[in-house]
Amino acid sequence: MLGLGIGRFRRSPMAPRTIACPYCGKELAIVPEAVSIPCSKCSRRVELEDLEVVEKISRDLMTGASVLVRVGAMVKGNIHAAEITILGSVQGNLKASRLIHLAATARVNGAIEAPRLEMEEGALVVGRLTITNKARKVRGKR
Ligand SMILES: [Zn+2]
Repeated sequence: MLGLGIGRFRRSPMAPRTIACPYCGKELAIVPEAVSIPCSKCSRRVELEDLEVVEKISRDLMTGASVLVRVGAMVKGNIHAAEITILGSVQGNLKASRLIHLAATARVNGAIEAPRLEMEEGALVVGRLTITNKARKVRGKR
């Protein structure tokens, strides 16, 4: 159980077959039944559950799946996940391997890093935005 203010969590019905390790970025193959897997590169345990934050919490959230911060909820800590959706407040850094979505009610005080960022009008960010280019490297003759 992940507990501590995380109201509930669920499995994605259509979970992807690979995820990026939220600690080191290594691509990991996952089986549908797995709840967590060890990273083959950094050996840390990667959670595969979606997290939904519904109140004020002070901790880092690390998952290979998604994180949703509800309206009125606040996270004091860093969030690393595949997809991050913010409707509430975050004091910390956001790093997503796929997508960050900031709703109009989002308030973020920290650095944001993702290959894709969606931001609704009204969302507030105080911090640095880094849109990473995750295009595959193509080897060519020099
Ligand atoms: Zn790792």
